[in-house]
Amino acid sequence: MSDFEGLVAIVTGGASGIGLATAIQLQGRGAEVAVLDVDPSGLPEGVLGVKADVTDDAEVKAAVDTVNERFGRLDVVVNNAGISAVGDVTDNSDQEWLHVLNVNVVGMVRVARHAVPHLRRSPCAAIVNTCSIVAWAGMEKRTLYSASKGAVYALTLAMAADHLREGIRVNCVAPGTADTPWVDRLLGRTADPEGERAALNARQPMGRMVSADEVAFAIAYLASPLSSASVGTVLGVDGGMHGLRLRPASQQGSRY
Ligand code: NAD
Repeated sequence: MSDFEGLVAIVTGGASGIGLATAIQLQGRGAEVAVLDVDPSGLPEGVLGVKADVTDDAEVKAAVDTVNERFGRLDVVVNNAGISAVGDVTDNSDQEWLHVLNVNVVGMVRVARHAVPHLRRSPCAAIVNTCSIVAWAGMEKRTLYSASKGAVYALTLAMAADHLREGIRVNCVAPGTADTPWVDRLLGRTADPEGERAALNARQPMGRMVSADEVAFAIAYLASPLSSASVGTVLGVDGGMHGLRLRPASQQGSRY
């Protein structure tokens, strides 16, 4: 496909996992891609890496301006940078709450704030935010992280309403557990990483985690000029986790 030919895209958190897969997907479909990341190393050839922390408004503004100066336009923003948090409501300090919300929610706001003036000049502008299954499904020990992604869901709908009439479509994807370096790091802190990995796979109705490429494909779908009627939508990429209720594989015998 070459649906992004001639378009310029920013992917935040694009140096790893879902963001990296998205940068590769968009580039492969014709876009000029810039990755904004705290560590924009190891990017594929032709992808512009710009060092920027989404918690720093001045850095974000400078990075967005750099992309616009380099390519002369901006059409797509993938607001993907995010960090995890583990714990129930008694576990995380105020400082942790403020930091995670700062990265996962206000970080998207900062990028959008500085990108929108450029996006207004695009004939096919799109913003795709990376939300999560945890915005709808209660998961144990994910209180703070879930609150941040619930905010991303609401933010997406509000942004979609605000910017629809000026030609900027805003949508989000809601991945289930995705097999990225993020999950490797979480598993690495457990006593039995392989057992935990098996449990994460089993939690998904399709029996395995989602891949970064599968999420990237959904992000590219929402960002594509071909998806011009998709706005204010939340596209699940969760292997059935949100909507399906399967019997355990061991109890599949009888049908009635
Ligand atoms: P990852 O850790 O592999 O990649 C995250 C990237 O974001 C890294 O390159 C990191 O350097 C960058 N980053 C972190 N903080 C940043 C900051 N302050 N400013 C700029 N860049 C920053 O993670 P991933 O699994 O690819 O996750 C990407 C997004 O997908 C996140 O928003 C996450 O919440 C979401 N998500 C992940 C999963 C999952 O199971 N992996 C599931 C649902 C949603």
